[in-house]
Amino acid sequence: MTIAFTPAQLRDMWNEERFLERFAKLSAIGATPSGGVHRPFGSAAEERARTYVVELLEQEIGLSVEVDAVANIWATHPGTDPQLPVITLGSHHDSVPDGGRFDGALGVLVAAEVVQSLREAGYANRHSLQVVSFTAEEPNEFDLSTLGSRTVAGRLDASRLQRARARRAPAVCRAHGGRRRPVAVATRAQIGRRDRRLFGTAH
Ligand SMILES: [Zn+2]
Repeated sequence: MTIAFTPAQLRDMWNEERFLERFAKLSAIGATPSGGVHRPFGSAAEERARTYVVELLEQEIGLSVEVDAVANIWATHPGTDPQLPVITLGSHHDSVPDGGRFDGALGVLVAAEVVQSLREAGYANRHSLQVVSFTAEEPNEFDLSTLGSRTVAGRLDASRLQRARARRAPAVCRAHGGRRRPVAVATRAQIGRRDRRLFGTAH
């Protein structure tokens, strides 16, 4: 394994001001008087957070963003060798009711900053890098926590999704800009373990 950067170089690459500014922006979405956030899946605040994350990844960082069948957000910075498995970093943008500011948001924003820093440094990564923000990671009124991550891991099959559909459909559809997607498509969000080299999260 080659060490590409020394710890000192990494510290220089990391744009702390930019990171903190983004953290403040995301923390303001669904902010509660107690200093936390209220962004349960399907709420207006969760949708605003989703929009913010997509804009950040797509417009500010310049990544290509894809929303999969269960509305997970994926942003890719291609590697030099497309045959190699992908390295994924990320977390979730929803929160438990009246949750903490760091839970989920930290993992998504750290992932974004890591990928942006590497791009700015002109680092030629061999493996493609992906930032993910999972859908409905936390408990919610649709009774479907870890929806996005379980689907990707293949732990939530089509029949389970089918049963859950009535409850989850409105929020997932809104996340897709109102477009309905058949549940069968949701199984395509599953990604085999072999395609993925590593999943990292700051949590
Ligand atoms: Zn969490």
